[in-house]
Amino acid sequence: LSDKLSRLVKQMRGQARITEANVQDMLREVRMALLEADVALPVVRDFINRVKDKALGAEVVGSLNPGQALVGIVNRELVATIGEGVSDINLQAQPPAVILMAGLQGAGKTTTTAKLAKHLIEKRKKKVLTVSGDVYRPAAIEQLKTVTAQAGAEWFPSTPDQKPVDIARAAIDYARKQYFDVLLVDTAGRLAIDEAMMKEIRELHAALNPVETLFVVDAMQGQDAINTAKAFKEALPLTGIILTKLDGDSRGGAALSVRQITGAPIKFAGTSEKIDGLEVFDAERHAGRILGMGDIVALVEQVQAGVDMEAAQKLAAKVKSGEGFDLNDFLSQIQQMKQMGGLSTLMDKMPAQIQAKAGQVDMDRAERDVRRKEGIICSMTAAERRKPEIIKATRKRRIAAGAGVQVQEVNRLLNEFEQMQQMMKKMKGGAMMKLMKRFGG
Ligand code: GDP
Ligand code: MG
Repeated sequence: LSDKLSRLVKQMRGQARITEANVQDMLREVRMALLEADVALPVVRDFINRVKDKALGAEVVGSLNPGQALVGIVNRELVATIGEGVSDINLQAQPPAVILMAGLQGAGKTTTTAKLAKHLIEKRKKKVLTVSGDVYRPAAIEQLKTVTAQAGAEWFPSTPDQKPVDIARAAIDYARKQYFDVLLVDTAGRLAIDEAMMKEIRELHAALNPVETLFVVDAMQGQDAINTAKAFKEALPLTGIILTKLDGDSRGGAALSVRQITGAPIKFAGTSEKIDGLEVFDAERHAGRILGMGDIVALVEQVQAGVDMEAAQKLAAKVKSGEGFDLNDFLSQIQQMKQMGGLSTLMDKMPAQIQAKAGQVDMDRAERDVRRKEGIICSMTAAERRKPEIIKATRKRRIAAGAGVQVQEVNRLLNEFEQMQQMMKKMKGGAMMKLMKRFGG
């Protein structure tokens, strides 16, 4: 698939605008990719229409072609949709904050209940109680007991002869008296949606008044995820989604289906059957997976980074030859930086250690600074940019007025440029020295 996409992208070189005609094929490929990832058909249709609306008539900047621009729009829309509202568990309630787990049998509710307990204990420093309302399978209550112990949380006993609502009330009562911060309520699932199950969980919800009602859904669930999601959304005011079994080899299109149908944010992802297999949902990574991973993600990233390869190469050649590095090149450096989404976006992509160091720098200020520099160079004439040495007092005043800055700022920029130019000359010198040494010079 991605090969085909890349080919289509290449065919579109030289077209300046996204039009119906030039994106038809691309959109067809995107539609196929989504269907292959098991996104439900109506959701695919909806998504494609949204992308089309955003894309049509969009101007294609720099050396991008409409194909690349479209891939960028698709990826961004996908990330925005599945990533909307991603957040940790809400605990804003009079303790105990009650969390209700809902979903089909086998979706991973019991496992995820324990994973969440561990997360809340370790990351949020909470005192956590779990309880099972699954009175249909005695083994299910035992299962929760076992995994709760692994999580280091406390388990509230229940038995199959009790009513789920009574169990829940008793658990809340206990949690209140013992000063628990959180009560996690595991529930019974059925193999398919049925009215009795929905009624039961609605009653549980009414009795518990939970601060979070989490819909646990198996990422491997295909087209059918949409029906499950619809049924649960109609029965309950869902506040979040947990997507389980992302360690499987499904493309995880259920994420998009379920996010769109329920309107609830995807909060966490299950990544193994083990107790620590829970991660904050990573929308960007998941979008890559849905769209077909590997090549296309790299391609999209390249598009989003917006690196103008031709300009970059020209610049590199100039730097190498050490000749004619002028203010135009300086400007194009600044503009490339801006195309890449500015400093802070760039920073987001950096490893954590670098981010930590950069935390000491005021990003907003740095970006304002970059914009001002751009403004100053844009107020110069072509001749001034090529030969900055002709910029004397009168010209400086004119440039400053044009850019809306003080003359000192123009001076500062010219100094900085000069330093850069000298650095480049030195770099060239250094490279020469190495070469000479190698030849015994
Ligand atoms: P429930 O019926 O909804 O309570 O589902 P369970 O919690 O009992 O999980 C059903 C099965 O899925 C169990 O075998 C779990 O070990 C497994 N499971 C749950 N979450 C994950 C996950 O994120 N990854 C993997 N690989 N298996 C999971
Ligand atoms: Mg269970």
